[in-house]
Amino acid sequence: MTDAERRLLDAIDMTVPWELVETFAQHPRVHPRDVNAAAEMIAERLRAHGIPVLMHEASIFLTIPHHAEVRAGDVTFGGKAPAGCADAKDGVTAPLVYVPAGFAIGSEDVFDTFDAKAAARTDVTGKIAITEGFASPATVTNLARLGAAAVIAINPGADSHWGTCTSVWGTPGHDERNGAPNIPAINVNRPDGDTLKAMAERGESVTVAVTMESGWFKSIVPEVRIDGKDSDDFVLVHGHYDSWDVGVGDNATGDATLLELARLLHARKDELTRGVRIAWWPGHSTGRYAGSTWYADTFAVDLVEHCVAQVNCDSPGCRWATEYKDVSLTAETERFAASIIEDAVGQPLFAERAHQAGDYSFNNLGLSGYFMLLSTMPDDVREEKGYYGVGGCGGNIAWHTEHDTLEVADREILEKDVRIYALAAYRNATARYLPLDFRDAVQGHLATLDRYQQAAGSHFDLTPAKEAAQGLKESLDQLAVKLEAGTVDPDVANALLKKLSRELVPLDYTTRPRFDHDPALTIPPLPDVADADKLADMDEHERAFAVTSLVRGRNRIVATLRAARNAVADVLS
Ligand SMILES: [Zn+2]
Repeated sequence: MTDAERRLLDAIDMTVPWELVETFAQHPRVHPRDVNAAAEMIAERLRAHGIPVLMHEASIFLTIPHHAEVRAGDVTFGGKAPAGCADAKDGVTAPLVYVPAGFAIGSEDVFDTFDAKAAARTDVTGKIAITEGFASPATVTNLARLGAAAVIAINPGADSHWGTCTSVWGTPGHDERNGAPNIPAINVNRPDGDTLKAMAERGESVTVAVTMESGWFKSIVPEVRIDGKDSDDFVLVHGHYDSWDVGVGDNATGDATLLELARLLHARKDELTRGVRIAWWPGHSTGRYAGSTWYADTFAVDLVEHCVAQVNCDSPGCRWATEYKDVSLTAETERFAASIIEDAVGQPLFAERAHQAGDYSFNNLGLSGYFMLLSTMPDDVREEKGYYGVGGCGGNIAWHTEHDTLEVADREILEKDVRIYALAAYRNATARYLPLDFRDAVQGHLATLDRYQQAAGSHFDLTPAKEAAQGLKESLDQLAVKLEAGTVDPDVANALLKKLSRELVPLDYTTRPRFDHDPALTIPPLPDVADADKLADMDEHERAFAVTSLVRGRNRIVATLRAARNAVADVLS
């Protein structure tokens, strides 16, 4: 660490950030009118520090759940409707049918419990499907497609959770206008779910009633722009400030982190080579990342030309969250992210491939990114508490419930996480060469291609893609030597590194064009050729169509990797 970095970390003061956490703990931030009031609370504190703040007015489409219940004769079960489902104020009444899914406890993806084969064996047409897991996009969308009249999702524990059931990313464009599942859905807790499951086995009928408010809302996007002294380039650090209920661990703690980051970096603006932009998003929960998507759309060209990395801040500073594992990032940022966590708090990083989730609304634009969820509780602590997998709050199952209150946050852990974000943003904004190592990205491509080739066997040949990846890898090895020696002009090197982000991030994380958004579903690595994995299970007729798609996908990969190699070669020569 440099002296300047040490001074930065020594200057952290948790007084105002913690006060914001306490304030937000009293202030639900679901409905846009409450969310906009919260924007003012953030802005007030920035202005008190003497930091100018932009208050963008975004027009975004939201679906806000209000009341939700299941009625069975004289008994009423409470629950939570996911954002994105259809309104059914008067209720949908139909026979229950049980679709087994099981709980994905301990599985890689806690939301992906939907079992297509089990569902296919069950006739759900016109019925209310009841299944285990969260009312996720995969579950609700698939059951809607199979003709279910409504979905009841049995959550794993004593509480039901809020969430989202649409896979449409952000405010829908015209083509996705009707992309959300057009049926009501509800999350119920395990005990109620088990009762309803027994009723399903007896073929009984129930009524699912959910009240949804949907429409266009003016939502405030507060943003602090700190200009760099030598460059128009900038790092974007961001997190959502709307929440479910008062959402302390998800994400008042993140909002407080961004607030302190703004204070620290604004005070050091003369030290920053490139700029830092800090943004707080509305519409994360009720608009499927509509706030960050609005920003990605509105400032798309600026982001493509000048953003050197996007850094997400969601659910830091939660109690018992003492480790840094399952941390999302795009591969080329891993070495940098690991060095930051090591230097800031002396702990190791355990990273994973960035999910198509959170506010990673910038993958199609081609922005390298790191962090989303950061600190999390160790597995043995989770096991001891009997916790199932959730998507935030450091692993605390208060996540997305009314129990995500002040006690979920931990001031000391939050301070550790502030150190990490502060050092990351500062170092990213001052580094001579952008801290992006694409050797790791290409190493990932090679491993992915090997895996797909093995699965495809003789049905499809990925050799041209592998050769292109190897060629790029060789050029990147040569580049690394020159960067280490400091012999490349920084402007030239950084322009190249930005260009590599623009090409390689979309290749590995998206299927749609640059200025569109992929849906919020699992995107496999090198998605254009991911179906190579399934060829062996297909009949000849189906396989021929799949191979046609794979040829196109392979073309995209070969062309992109070769163009990247040429760009590196230009700089080397
Ligand atoms: Zn969150």
